[in-house]
Amino acid sequence: MSLNLLMLGPPGAGKGTQAERFARVKGIPKISTGDILREAVHTGTEIGLRAKAVMDRGELVGDDVMIGIVRERLERADAVGGFVLDGFPRTVAQAAALDGIMSSRGPLIVVDIVVPEAELVRRLGGRMICDECGTGGQIGSAVGAACANCGGSLVQRTDDNQAVVLERLKVYHRQSEPLVEYYRVRPTFRSIDGAQAPDRVAADLAAAIEAAGSVAVRPGAKG
Ligand code: ADP
Ligand code: ZN
Repeated sequence: MSLNLLMLGPPGAGKGTQAERFARVKGIPKISTGDILREAVHTGTEIGLRAKAVMDRGELVGDDVMIGIVRERLERADAVGGFVLDGFPRTVAQAAALDGIMSSRGPLIVVDIVVPEAELVRRLGGRMICDECGTGGQIGSAVGAACANCGGSLVQRTDDNQAVVLERLKVYHRQSEPLVEYYRVRPTFRSIDGAQAPDRVAADLAAAIEAAGSVAVRPGAKG
Protein backbone atom coordinates (compact mmCIF):
# COMPACT_ATOMS: atom_id res chain seq x y z
CA MET A 1 0.00 0.00 0.00
CA SER A 2 1.41 3.36 -0.95
CA LEU A 3 1.57 6.10 1.64
CA ASN A 4 0.13 9.30 0.24
CA LEU A 5 0.47 11.98 2.87
CA LEU A 6 -0.76 15.52 2.74
CA MET A 7 0.32 18.10 5.31
CA LEU A 8 -1.99 20.98 6.16
CA GLY A 9 -1.23 23.95 8.38
CA PRO A 10 -0.46 27.67 8.29
CA PRO A 11 2.87 29.12 7.15
CA GLY A 12 5.39 28.56 9.93
CA ALA A 13 3.63 25.45 11.31
CA GLY A 14 6.66 23.31 10.51
CA LYS A 15 5.13 21.42 7.58
CA GLY A 16 8.32 21.55 5.55
CA THR A 17 10.58 20.32 8.36
CA GLN A 18 8.26 17.49 9.33
CA ALA A 19 7.53 16.51 5.72
CA GLU A 20 11.25 16.35 4.97
CA ARG A 21 11.95 14.18 7.99
CA PHE A 22 9.08 11.81 7.44
CA ALA A 23 9.80 11.42 3.72
CA ARG A 24 13.45 10.62 4.43
CA VAL A 25 12.56 7.94 6.99
CA LYS A 26 10.01 6.32 4.65
CA GLY A 27 12.12 6.67 1.50
CA ILE A 28 9.40 8.52 -0.41
CA PRO A 29 9.72 11.93 -2.08
CA LYS A 30 8.77 15.14 -0.31
CA ILE A 31 6.99 17.33 -2.81
CA SER A 32 6.95 20.95 -1.68
CA THR A 33 5.31 23.42 -4.03
CA GLY A 34 7.08 26.30 -2.25
CA ASP A 35 10.45 24.63 -2.97
CA ILE A 36 9.47 23.93 -6.59
CA LEU A 37 8.51 27.59 -7.08
CA ARG A 38 11.65 28.94 -5.38
CA GLU A 39 13.74 26.62 -7.58
CA ALA A 40 11.94 27.99 -10.65
CA VAL A 41 12.66 31.54 -9.48
CA HIS A 42 16.32 30.65 -8.88
CA THR A 43 16.81 29.15 -12.36
CA GLY A 44 14.73 31.90 -13.98
CA THR A 45 12.13 29.80 -15.80
CA GLU A 46 8.97 31.36 -17.25
CA ILE A 47 6.86 30.14 -14.31
CA GLY A 48 9.51 31.33 -11.86
CA LEU A 49 9.62 34.83 -13.32
CA ARG A 50 5.85 35.19 -13.05
CA ALA A 51 5.62 33.54 -9.61
CA LYS A 52 8.25 35.70 -7.93
CA ALA A 53 6.18 38.88 -7.74
CA VAL A 54 3.15 36.98 -6.45
CA MET A 55 5.19 35.17 -3.79
CA ASP A 56 6.91 38.38 -2.68
CA ARG A 57 3.50 39.91 -2.01
CA GLY A 58 2.48 36.87 0.05
CA GLU A 59 -0.31 35.95 -2.35
CA LEU A 60 -1.03 32.62 -4.02
CA VAL A 61 0.16 31.56 -7.45
CA GLY A 62 -2.79 30.67 -9.72
CA ASP A 63 -4.59 27.34 -9.28
CA ASP A 64 -4.09 26.23 -12.90
CA VAL A 65 -0.31 26.69 -12.73
CA MET A 66 -0.05 24.91 -9.37
CA ILE A 67 -2.33 22.03 -10.38
CA GLY A 68 -0.26 21.53 -13.55
CA ILE A 69 2.99 21.46 -11.58
CA VAL A 70 1.68 18.92 -9.07
CA ARG A 71 -0.05 16.72 -11.64
CA GLU A 72 3.22 16.40 -13.55
CA ARG A 73 5.28 15.82 -10.41
CA LEU A 74 2.99 13.06 -9.09
CA GLU A 75 3.26 11.21 -12.40
CA ARG A 76 7.00 10.73 -11.98
CA ALA A 77 8.19 7.21 -11.18
CA ASP A 78 9.50 8.05 -7.71
CA ALA A 79 6.03 9.09 -6.51
CA VAL A 80 4.28 5.84 -7.48
CA GLY A 81 5.01 4.21 -4.10
CA GLY A 82 3.82 7.25 -2.15
CA PHE A 83 4.75 10.84 -1.39
CA VAL A 84 4.52 13.64 1.13
CA LEU A 85 2.86 16.78 -0.20
CA ASP A 86 3.82 20.04 1.52
CA GLY A 87 2.21 23.33 0.52
CA PHE A 88 -0.41 21.83 -1.80
CA PRO A 89 -3.37 22.02 -1.90
CA ARG A 90 -3.80 25.60 -0.68
CA THR A 91 -7.27 26.24 -2.07
CA VAL A 92 -10.45 24.17 -2.29
CA ALA A 93 -10.07 24.21 -6.09
CA GLN A 94 -6.61 22.66 -5.75
CA ALA A 95 -7.98 20.04 -3.33
CA ALA A 96 -10.75 19.10 -5.74
CA ALA A 97 -8.21 18.74 -8.56
CA LEU A 98 -6.02 16.58 -6.32
CA ASP A 99 -8.98 14.30 -5.59
CA GLY A 100 -9.34 13.88 -9.35
CA ILE A 101 -5.64 13.06 -9.75
CA MET A 102 -5.81 10.59 -6.84
CA SER A 103 -9.04 8.86 -7.88
CA SER A 104 -7.14 5.93 -9.41
CA ARG A 105 -4.49 5.80 -6.67
CA GLY A 106 -4.46 5.00 -2.94
CA PRO A 107 -6.27 7.15 -0.35
CA LEU A 108 -4.82 10.39 0.99
CA ILE A 109 -3.83 10.66 4.62
CA VAL A 110 -4.31 14.25 5.74
CA VAL A 111 -2.57 15.70 8.80
CA ASP A 112 -3.26 19.25 9.97
CA ILE A 113 -0.50 20.84 12.07
CA VAL A 114 -2.05 23.31 14.53
CA VAL A 115 0.02 26.23 15.93
CA PRO A 116 -1.18 29.44 17.67
CA GLU A 117 -0.96 32.62 15.59
CA ALA A 118 1.54 34.43 17.88
CA GLU A 119 3.98 31.53 17.64
CA LEU A 120 3.67 31.54 13.84
CA VAL A 121 4.55 35.23 13.64
CA ARG A 122 7.55 34.68 15.92
CA ARG A 123 8.82 31.74 13.87
CA LEU A 124 8.34 33.34 10.45
CA GLY A 125 10.12 36.54 11.47
CA GLY A 126 13.28 34.65 12.46
CA ARG A 127 13.35 32.04 9.72
CA MET A 128 16.45 31.68 7.55
CA ILE A 129 17.04 29.88 4.27
CA CYS A 130 20.15 29.00 2.20
CA ASP A 131 20.68 31.28 -0.76
CA GLU A 132 22.22 28.42 -2.76
CA CYS A 133 20.40 25.16 -2.05
CA GLY A 134 17.18 26.34 -0.36
CA THR A 135 17.71 24.36 2.84
CA GLY A 136 16.07 25.98 5.88
CA GLY A 137 18.48 27.23 8.55
CA GLN A 138 17.78 27.40 12.26
CA ILE A 139 15.30 30.02 13.44
CA GLY A 140 17.25 33.07 14.56
CA SER A 141 20.52 32.20 12.74
CA ALA A 142 22.58 35.25 11.74
CA VAL A 143 22.31 36.56 8.19
CA GLY A 144 25.32 35.26 6.24
CA ALA A 145 25.88 32.25 8.51
CA ALA A 146 26.95 29.09 6.64
CA CYS A 147 24.39 26.56 5.42
CA ALA A 148 24.82 23.19 7.16
CA ASN A 149 24.04 21.42 3.89
CA CYS A 150 26.21 23.16 1.28
CA GLY A 151 28.16 25.95 3.00
CA GLY A 152 26.22 28.65 1.12
CA SER A 153 25.10 31.70 3.05
CA LEU A 154 21.83 31.99 4.95
CA VAL A 155 19.49 34.82 4.07
CA GLN A 156 15.97 35.81 5.10
CA ARG A 157 13.36 34.64 2.60
CA THR A 158 12.05 37.63 0.64
CA ASP A 159 8.52 36.72 1.75
CA ASP A 160 9.44 36.45 5.45
CA ASN A 161 9.50 40.18 6.27
CA GLN A 162 6.90 41.39 8.76
CA ALA A 163 4.36 42.92 6.35
CA VAL A 164 4.45 39.94 3.99
CA VAL A 165 4.24 37.47 6.89
CA LEU A 166 1.00 39.11 8.07
CA GLU A 167 -0.37 39.02 4.52
CA ARG A 168 0.51 35.32 4.16
CA LEU A 169 -1.31 34.53 7.40
CA LYS A 170 -4.35 36.46 6.15
CA VAL A 171 -4.24 34.59 2.85
CA TYR A 172 -3.97 31.33 4.79
CA HIS A 173 -7.09 32.06 6.87
CA ARG A 174 -9.07 33.19 3.85
CA GLN A 175 -8.05 30.65 1.21
CA SER A 176 -6.38 27.64 2.83
CA GLU A 177 -8.00 27.18 6.25
CA PRO A 178 -11.31 26.08 4.62
CA LEU A 179 -9.37 22.97 3.55
CA VAL A 180 -9.43 21.76 7.15
CA GLU A 181 -13.23 21.52 6.93
CA TYR A 182 -12.96 20.01 3.43
CA TYR A 183 -10.87 17.11 4.76
CA ARG A 184 -12.06 16.84 8.36
CA VAL A 185 -15.02 14.62 7.42
CA ARG A 186 -12.74 11.90 6.07
CA PRO A 187 -11.71 8.95 8.26
CA THR A 188 -8.08 9.51 7.21
CA PHE A 189 -7.94 13.05 8.64
CA ARG A 190 -5.93 13.79 11.83
CA SER A 191 -4.75 16.97 13.53
CA ILE A 192 -1.66 17.31 15.70
CA ASP A 193 -0.16 19.96 18.01
CA GLY A 194 2.64 21.74 16.14
CA ALA A 195 3.62 24.03 19.03
CA GLN A 196 5.74 21.29 20.66
CA ALA A 197 9.44 20.57 20.13
CA PRO A 198 10.19 19.15 16.64
CA ASP A 199 10.88 15.62 17.97
CA ARG A 200 7.53 15.52 19.76
CA VAL A 201 5.73 16.78 16.65
CA ALA A 202 7.49 14.09 14.59
CA ALA A 203 6.38 11.39 17.06
CA ASP A 204 2.77 12.65 17.04
CA LEU A 205 2.85 12.81 13.24
CA ALA A 206 4.05 9.21 12.96
CA ALA A 207 1.33 8.05 15.38
CA ALA A 208 -1.37 10.02 13.55
CA ILE A 209 -0.33 8.53 10.21
CA GLU A 210 -0.30 5.05 11.68
CA ALA A 211 -3.84 5.50 13.03
CA ALA A 212 -5.15 7.11 9.84
CA GLY A 213 -3.46 4.43 7.71
CA SER A 214 -5.17 1.58 9.54
CA VAL A 215 -8.52 3.25 8.87
CA ALA A 216 -7.59 3.70 5.22
CA VAL A 217 -7.01 -0.03 4.60
CA ARG A 218 -10.14 -1.20 6.41
CA PRO A 219 -12.52 -2.58 3.78
CA GLY A 220 -15.42 -0.28 3.08
CA ALA A 221 -13.67 2.77 4.51
CA LYS A 222 -13.93 5.84 2.34
CA GLY A 223 -10.63 7.55 1.48
P1 ADP B 1 5.04 28.75 3.67
O1 ADP B 1 6.30 28.81 4.41
O2 ADP B 1 4.21 30.00 3.77
O3 ADP B 1 4.25 27.50 3.92
P2 ADP B 1 5.80 27.88 1.00
O4 ADP B 1 7.25 27.73 0.95
O5 ADP B 1 4.96 26.66 1.04
O6 ADP B 1 5.43 28.87 2.18
O7 ADP B 1 5.29 28.77 -0.25
C1 ADP B 1 5.80 30.06 -0.49
C2 ADP B 1 4.92 30.81 -1.48
O8 ADP B 1 4.82 30.03 -2.70
C3 ADP B 1 3.48 31.01 -1.03
O9 ADP B 1 3.33 32.13 -0.21
C4 ADP B 1 2.77 31.16 -2.39
O10 ADP B 1 2.96 32.43 -2.94
C5 ADP B 1 3.50 30.16 -3.27
N1 ADP B 1 2.85 28.82 -3.26
C6 ADP B 1 3.37 27.65 -2.75
N2 ADP B 1 2.51 26.65 -2.90
C7 ADP B 1 1.40 27.15 -3.49
C8 ADP B 1 0.14 26.63 -3.88
N3 ADP B 1 -0.18 25.32 -3.70
N4 ADP B 1 -0.77 27.47 -4.47
C9 ADP B 1 -0.48 28.76 -4.66
N5 ADP B 1 0.69 29.33 -4.31
C10 ADP B 1 1.62 28.56 -3.73
ZN1 ZN C 1 22.84 25.37 1.19
